[in-house]
Amino acid sequence: NKSTVIDGKLVFENVLKDLRQEISAFVASGNKPPILTALTAGYDPSSLSYVKIKRKAAQSVGVDCNIVELRSSYTDDDVLRIISQLNKDDRVDGILVQLPLFPHNNERIICDAVAHRKDVDGTSAASLGNLCLNTDHFIPCTALAVHHILKNVIGLDYCGKRAVVIGRSKHVGLPIAILLHSSEQYGDIEGLNMTTTIAHRHTPRNTLIELSSSADVLVSAAGVPGLVTADMVKPGAIVLDVGVTKTVTPEGKSVFKGDVNFADVQNKVMYITSVPGGIGPVTVGMLMRNVFKSARIREAKLRSEEAIKTNQNQ
Ligand code: ADP
Repeated sequence: NKSTVIDGKLVFENVLKDLRQEISAFVASGNKPPILTALTAGYDPSSLSYVKIKRKAAQSVGVDCNIVELRSSYTDDDVLRIISQLNKDDRVDGILVQLPLFPHNNERIICDAVAHRKDVDGTSAASLGNLCLNTDHFIPCTALAVHHILKNVIGLDYCGKRAVVIGRSKHVGLPIAILLHSSEQYGDIEGLNMTTTIAHRHTPRNTLIELSSSADVLVSAAGVPGLVTADMVKPGAIVLDVGVTKTVTPEGKSVFKGDVNFADVQNKVMYITSVPGGIGPVTVGMLMRNVFKSARIREAKLRSEEAIKTNQNQ
């Protein structure tokens, strides 16, 4: 009874392959290529490297990607001015605010300033509100990645099954829980109708074990390495590890660790993702999909405006 380790890198490559074809057809029929602008504080090397990974993925599918490195001297007003210009710039389809920003910046205010038509990371209050109210909009990419793996890679029927999400952050844990429990259709994304429980830092360990042991799907997004051990997991479950924590080895090397004690849990479950190489790359693929979705909306709007003009001139 061997488990399947989901190869996030391969899932990512497949998502990019499809997108590359779709975007090249989109451009071949006379539409402007999608453009993504990413803002990063840049002082944090892993933050900057994430943005560069995103730019590389973008370029490989035909999305233009600009990186704006914010300076430590920028106040919230300076950042808001930059976002306001990008909001007005018709060429820009997606604006990504790579967190964390500088400690003196207010991330909530800055994420909320992104026009929702361009909020390809789905992290503004408008996008998150729309997600809660079951309206089609941009959904945070980590939640999309979890959904994609469950629905399109594993492809089981989840309706009525039990899910546990560990972590309730507004950009990660909560949107995941929304897609897992909901029955709604968000464009081409469909809620999975699972009985979903959210655990967090105040969930006592014995309660967490009790809940997670009955989960058919266990998603951990706590950022606590080694949190999920084999005794917490239902035999044959699906375990998706969303936590990523940078740790330093005794030799001084930086490594990224997931929440799940992989070696311990692997043999007990049906499907599992690793860190690195699991949810992370798929998240980047979902971001590219959102950027292309935004470009398609932009072109559809342009076409309908042109049609109105032609009608008026006739
Ligand atoms: P992210 O943005 O990656 O989701 P955060 O640090 O914002 O990360 O959120 C971590 C989440 O994990 C919080 O909701 C917190 O309550 C939860 N959490 C942290 N430690 C534990 C723990 N030991 N057990 C259960 N949940 C935890």
